[in-house]
Amino acid sequence: MAKCPICNSRQGKRKCFLVDDLICSRCCVSKRKAEVCSECGFYQKPKIKYNNVPAYSTSEMESNMDLESYGNSVEGALCAYDIEIGNMLNDSDAIRIIELLINIHHFNVQDTEGESQTIINGVGFIEGTIKEDLKDVNNDVIVKILGVIRFVAKRRSKTGKEYMRIIHQYVGPRISSGIRILKR
Ligand SMILES: [Zn+2]
Repeated sequence: MAKCPICNSRQGKRKCFLVDDLICSRCCVSKRKAEVCSECGFYQKPKIKYNNVPAYSTSEMESNMDLESYGNSVEGALCAYDIEIGNMLNDSDAIRIIELLINIHHFNVQDTEGESQTIINGVGFIEGTIKEDLKDVNNDVIVKILGVIRFVAKRRSKTGKEYMRIIHQYVGPRISSGIRILKR
């Protein structure tokens, strides 16, 4: 079998739109361009690495009342959205909603292809709260708030709604800007 014309070392097995020849799988992954390759059967969207997104630490959040109130707005909106859809929001959906908000605020991508309607509507719901409650807050700060919320949610979640239960108990659903309901 012929060698891949890009690296000239591995075997070319994939018909490539970019070079009109058979290329190897590693060059396929490293050279692909969304605008040329999106129709190709080998194409996969690049995976976003959320662990590298800037985030506040939990102690930074706890020691700063402004940051804490921003975080409460976002988590209070997650609680309110959960109630609106009949308590059907699992941690995995909540985390995905936060990730798509990170896409918007940090990566400048708005791509909801393949996401469930629950997640798509949730992104709109929470983004509405961010636009209202955090409208005067620097975008870098919003990203770091979203980053710490994702971190905490992933740490607390096990299989279902462990994270959501905690924020329902300690944050409570947002009713309007600065107003949340807490039932103890
Ligand atoms: Zn190659």
